[in-house]
Amino acid sequence: MHKVIIIGSGCAGLTAAIYAARGDLHPIVLDGYEPGGQLALTTLVENFPGFTDGILGPEFIEHVRKQAQRFGTEFRSGAVTSVDLSERPFKVVAGKETYESEALIIASGASARMLGIESERHLLGYGVSTCATCDGYFFRDREIMVVGGGDTAMEEATFLTKFAKRVTIVHRRNEFRATKIMLDRAKANEKIRFMTPYAVEEVNNVSNKAVDSVQLRNLETNELAKIEVEGVFVAIGHDPNSKVFHGQLKMDDAGYILTHDGPKTSVEGVFAAGDVQDHHYRQAITAAGSGCMAAMDAEKFLAENKLPVSVAGQK
Ligand code: NAP
Repeated sequence: MHKVIIIGSGCAGLTAAIYAARGDLHPIVLDGYEPGGQLALTTLVENFPGFTDGILGPEFIEHVRKQAQRFGTEFRSGAVTSVDLSERPFKVVAGKETYESEALIIASGASARMLGIESERHLLGYGVSTCATCDGYFFRDREIMVVGGGDTAMEEATFLTKFAKRVTIVHRRNEFRATKIMLDRAKANEKIRFMTPYAVEEVNNVSNKAVDSVQLRNLETNELAKIEVEGVFVAIGHDPNSKVFHGQLKMDDAGYILTHDGPKTSVEGVFAAGDVQDHHYRQAITAAGSGCMAAMDAEKFLAENKLPVSVAGQK
């Protein structure tokens, strides 16, 4: 029996852990499929206050993790496969372990969206990637494609020009979702060219287990174009990691957990923080802020809603 279990170890989960640990709640953090969350897969973080010259995402997350550990947070690996939120204590199954907790903080984040074409799936890790920081290095002096029209696509494309001979940004519309500063930076980069409005039809070549070209379709003229590239970075947004909570917590149509009064979910004692409940801001700083709020509210909830001793076990 635990006082609070935190699901997810990204910026939101780790910030919740720092606050919960300092509040003497002895939090357990379940790492999940992607320990460190999206920051562990990103390049330079330039907009988190406190770092004049920016800081690399993985380095930043390592600091926050150690900070949480310093106050007594325990980390357990393994992804959550099921939960029972119908009564307290809540039950969380991760791998072979079943955990019981008086309060729960869900900070399971969001994961990279894929295009959904068969060839993309076969070539993932063989030229298709969702993480420029992780894989950009392998494409030195190569032609690369980045798919997407948001900030992530601009950021990844700009980062990839450090290695690539040329980066082609392919986007399905002529208008971009990216913020002006990111778009302008990409447009000003001589190594980046734009192709719009195009959809990716096929990534070749599955039989060689390597990418050699991409088949595009112009969405206005229907014309096909074959672009020779050796790497494809898919940067088309993210989906919330909320599947295991379906049917137990209120969510919006896209699967984001609905919160009210800050981090409170539709189940009392269950709090949600970070990208799993935020499809609008999705920033490291807002995730950290909501993680802090979740821990503070969990602490208040536990103080006001003590479980009977027989149920709470050793607590
Ligand atoms: P996003 O803003 O949702 O953009 C996703 C892009 O992918 C959109 O242009 C979308 O096209 C396209 N797309 C989605 N599904 C597609 C599909 N199936 N096929 C082809 N294209 C598809 O996602 P994001 O770029 O990951 O950014 C998410 C949030 O993080 C934003 O708030 C952003 O500002 C923030 N962010 C900030 C920074 C920074 O400040 N340093 C860096 C990265 C991200 P449509 O436009 O046609 O829908």
